[in-house]
Amino acid sequence: MSSISEAGVDAARARYQRVDLHCHTRASDGSLTPAQLCERAVELRIELLAITDHDTAGGYREARDYLASHPLPLRLLPAAEFSCVWKNINVHIVGLGIDADSEAARTAFAFLGDARLQRAELIGEKLAKLRMPGACAGALALAGDSQIGRPHFARYLVAQGHVGSIDAAFDRYLGAGKVGDIKAVWPSLEQVVAWIAAAGGVAVLAHPLKYKMTATRLRLLVAEFKAAGGGAIEVVTGRQQADWSFLAQLSRQHGLEASQGSDFHGPGLGWGDLGAISPMPAGCTPVWLRWSSPEPSC
Ligand code: AMP
Ligand code: MN
Ligand code: MN
Ligand code: MN
Repeated sequence: MSSISEAGVDAARARYQRVDLHCHTRASDGSLTPAQLCERAVELRIELLAITDHDTAGGYREARDYLASHPLPLRLLPAAEFSCVWKNINVHIVGLGIDADSEAARTAFAFLGDARLQRAELIGEKLAKLRMPGACAGALALAGDSQIGRPHFARYLVAQGHVGSIDAAFDRYLGAGKVGDIKAVWPSLEQVVAWIAAAGGVAVLAHPLKYKMTATRLRLLVAEFKAAGGGAIEVVTGRQQADWSFLAQLSRQHGLEASQGSDFHGPGLGWGDLGAISPMPAGCTPVWLRWSSPEPSC
């Protein structure tokens, strides 16, 4: 199992949340298998978990199958993190409680999987022009069965010695506004929200502060997300030292439920651990009340 020392687990138990509705496995760009992630969640006393791999329910499915043969005190929600574009910004929408086998979900994942492959080719072409050939094939090889993403390109660029670190790969070539930041392949926000609704899920605007928008722009995004049928926003997300009260206020003003999630990608990857998130501010309606009893802190 993953390496949390006993002392670490004890300290963590005291402060970690019991609900984590945003995390990744090797089905996309996380480093743990779905089984390892479930075991870690139980060590950290998480009770309700949504595995939200990028544009695939593969991580959820594998975890569900693991729990069927290894019963653990953990409730798993079927989920994924969907990519879309809004006003030329790459926005992420978590779909919670989706029927992963529905026609809408299958259509969405097929579309998004194709989009990722198309984007990988385009990123490869851009990097080749900058005298870094072979990146598409290299990233695909690193991804294996996982949903291909920019982190696989980052790993390839590090392995080839083109950059010294993953951070440098994003800073120079892959991050927002750089050559590898290709958004033309993504569906619209409205399309993604519609797919999630048709799959019976709740659409959650992921990590709203990560887009680095002005407050005015973010209000517009939240209003348009709500108008499109969005149901919740992530008020508390991992690794951010932020003023959650602004997001809490946005959720209340727009009649959106509140979600929370660590966005954990793996131990030692610089992301917060599972459940390592601030408590939900008072006055929010937790989205997970749809699936469980209330948290005492809310
Ligand atoms: P993609 O989903 O392929 O567009 O890639 C976006 C993913 O890259 C995010 O979900 C993060 O996991 C990762 N990422 C984004 N920015 C950085 C960064 N500066 N350093 C490391 N990983 C990053
Ligand atoms: Mn990611
Ligand atoms: Mn995201
Ligand atoms: Mn994520």
